[in-house]
Amino acid sequence: MTDIIHSLAALRARVADWRENGDSVALIPTMGALHDGHLTLAGEGQKKADRTIVTIFVNPTQFGEGEDFDAYPRTEKEDVEKLDRLGIDVAFCPKAEDVYAGDAATTVSVDALNTELCGAARPGHFDGVTTIVMKLLMMVLPDVAVFGEKDYQQLCIIKRMVRDLNVPVKIAACPTMREPDGVAMSSRNAYLTPNQRSIAPTLQQTLKKIATEAKKAGNFETLCASGIDALLDAGFRAVDYLEIRDAETLQPATDLSRPARILAAAHLGKTRLIDNIPLG
Ligand code: AMP
Repeated sequence: MTDIIHSLAALRARVADWRENGDSVALIPTMGALHDGHLTLAGEGQKKADRTIVTIFVNPTQFGEGEDFDAYPRTEKEDVEKLDRLGIDVAFCPKAEDVYAGDAATTVSVDALNTELCGAARPGHFDGVTTIVMKLLMMVLPDVAVFGEKDYQQLCIIKRMVRDLNVPVKIAACPTMREPDGVAMSSRNAYLTPNQRSIAPTLQQTLKKIATEAKKAGNFETLCASGIDALLDAGFRAVDYLEIRDAETLQPATDLSRPARILAAAHLGKTRLIDNIPLG
């Protein structure tokens, strides 16, 4: 049975019991509304450690004003059933008031990377992410924490934070899990109307097309501009960015001398979708 733990004291007591037995611990932070992408991360945690904790916490500090914090799907009962079927040890589901002291004054911020790409469209978002991830790492003190490549910029920022602050945890990454038509699984896909859902596969298709052209030595800037046009033509309302970046530093890439990543964020109606694929 997956144990649902709400309080930090109970969580720490459980981890201390495991540690006494010599068990290693994996942490998988999520905001719930679990799909197969999340469950792949959880399965990876089980492979990498003796005990696995999945956290379910819709973190208020990573949502900006006017974003979907209130509307974000909350399906804790179904989530825990899914974790139970996988044999996950603990679902940690804290309350916001227990996570953040009313007068909390500390933010973890990974400079520069946090204002690029998604950070440009969502000011403060990554500071909210890095602060909650750091707090969860401190709460659990896991051996390994698993994140998805679906949120590639987030993964890079978390790796940088852990390196910069000497946090003694291994960061593991899982590839993006997709629906049969190629759409990256996301809790936010539930917001799409049937018509928008039929347009959504164009995002990954466009990235793949750019990857093919880029390998034929096409000019990256021109390719990305044509990709943005293709998304707008397909029915996306706006494109926040579509760029080719260095896969590790996330700095702009102009050739394939190093591994690169094509990343995009685009709006279908009120829903903002992100996706990325490797290049080279
Ligand atoms: P979220 O609940 O959206 O904050 O995501 C929690 C974790 O699941 C993050 O590490 C995400 O990158 C990862 N994740 C979300 N969607 C997918 C997906 N389709 N494939 C793989 N990992 C994912």
